[in-house]
Amino acid sequence: MYHHSTSAAQPVVGFATGVLAPVERTKDAIVYQRCAWCGTAMYHRLLCPVCQGSELRTERSEGTGTVRHSTVVHRNTPAARNVSLIEMAEGFVVRGRVMGPLIGIHSGDRVKLSTAKDPVRGEPVFQLLDEPYRAWS
Ligand SMILES: [Zn+2]
Repeated sequence: MYHHSTSAAQPVVGFATGVLAPVERTKDAIVYQRCAWCGTAMYHRLLCPVCQGSELRTERSEGTGTVRHSTVVHRNTPAARNVSLIEMAEGFVVRGRVMGPLIGIHSGDRVKLSTAKDPVRGEPVFQLLDEPYRAWS
């Protein structure tokens, strides 16, 4: 009789307990497209804006970015809200909302994704990474 009792190579699990590993949250993530030909990242496109390539891979953003433009919208809403263009670390730009006081949002501010889809408007919501002060709200 032949037994494999001692030959099983056990994968090392539970070794690094307590290490701050990034938590994978698949539901709150922005997915984008990256051109397989030239590597350009884009959002909600069917063709690459650079090389017109149609071979696009879907990838998942890490969720951090920089505010490129921010405007306040008063129209059709009981309270003013901001509409911001966020340039993500991967290189594509999305339109969304940044939480916090409207006057506290400037171009160049670093943000991270809070909610991929606002339950009301279905747009991504971001929060400021470098808060100049604590925003109690
Ligand atoms: Zn391309």
